[in-house]
Amino acid sequence: MACEPSLKAPGLVDGQGRAIRYLRISVTDRCDLRCRYCMSEAMTFLPREAVLSLEEIALIAERFIASGVRKIRLTGGEPLVRRDMIDLVRRLGRQVGTGLDELTLTTNGTQLAKHAEALHDAGVRRVNVSMDSRDSGTFRYITRHGDVAQVLDGIAAAKAVGLAVKINMVALKGLNEDEIAPMLDWCVDQGHDLTLIETMPLGLIDEDRADRFLPLTQVMSALKGRFDLSFDSHTSGGPARYWRVGGTGTRLGLISPLTNNFCATCNRVRLSTDGKLHMCLGHEDSVDLKAAIRSGGLAEVDARIAEALVRKPARHDFDVSPGAAPAVARHMSVTGG
Ligand code: SAM
Ligand code: SF4
Repeated sequence: MACEPSLKAPGLVDGQGRAIRYLRISVTDRCDLRCRYCMSEAMTFLPREAVLSLEEIALIAERFIASGVRKIRLTGGEPLVRRDMIDLVRRLGRQVGTGLDELTLTTNGTQLAKHAEALHDAGVRRVNVSMDSRDSGTFRYITRHGDVAQVLDGIAAAKAVGLAVKINMVALKGLNEDEIAPMLDWCVDQGHDLTLIETMPLGLIDEDRADRFLPLTQVMSALKGRFDLSFDSHTSGGPARYWRVGGTGTRLGLISPLTNNFCATCNRVRLSTDGKLHMCLGHEDSVDLKAAIRSGGLAEVDARIAEALVRKPARHDFDVSPGAAPAVARHMSVTGG
């Protein structure tokens, strides 16, 4: 039965009765890499005037915190390529321990060596670093021009300043499937967690995602033959389900929207680079918080958030069968992965 959505205590509740405690923010749709599953080589980016200012992002994020959101992830695009991004991290970081339980970041790691210390000083304690391969040739192929040595330097710098690192790896048939077990070995050795992700049909790219789709059910069957994996009820507040790697401190997370739908427990909404609040990664519907803050201020933002909660869909309907169109036209980099 649908519930009355609310902006008041005990916090944000959507039309399906799910508590919304997690906001992901795409601070920029721009990126210094061009991962093949994420965007096309000739990706076009939003014009500057269409993008929320860092001040607007902070003000909107603070409305969410005041309404009960406990976790914020800054992402993109590549969040660390946005100028003055650390100022936003510092401002939101002041809320950690009071309004927020956690402020985190998802990054491709290319600029992490430069920013790791400032992130830690600002109150960030965990970062997700995307690295789909540790082989320099495969990494360069997947990202179209990236240098994995930069990412490995960034990960080492993060570890050195005391940031916990979780590696994100999109499982790609015929590209990195043979590297998944070695990546888990490496994570165990380095003391990192590893999250595997199924490729999702978001935005047009230069290839058919079906050609690279690797079901994590299949990956897990292979990993269980090699590692002592036991289900762990741990949650990081996101969509991953976790397995503990026996005899180690490492957790293996699976984000499997295609083979194991997790929408019933969804606690998230996403603020896109252009100020749209997306209630679901897999649907086009959104409310325009940029227009709200520019025309009616924070009261208007609150009203639009309440409206959005009513409309949050029950679930996505991703399809990566051959020739299937993307579920939505926008790319993950705009919505915030
Ligand atoms: N640039 C940063 C990075 O790569 O970590 C942050 C943004 S990126 C959109 C966030 C995460 O989404 C990354 O782990 C990336 O691999 C993943 N991702 C991007 N497009 C995806 C897609 N179509 N399906 C599944 N995961 C995707
Ligand atoms: Fe950039 Fe991240 Fe997309 Fe790769 S996955 S192109 S690093 S936004």
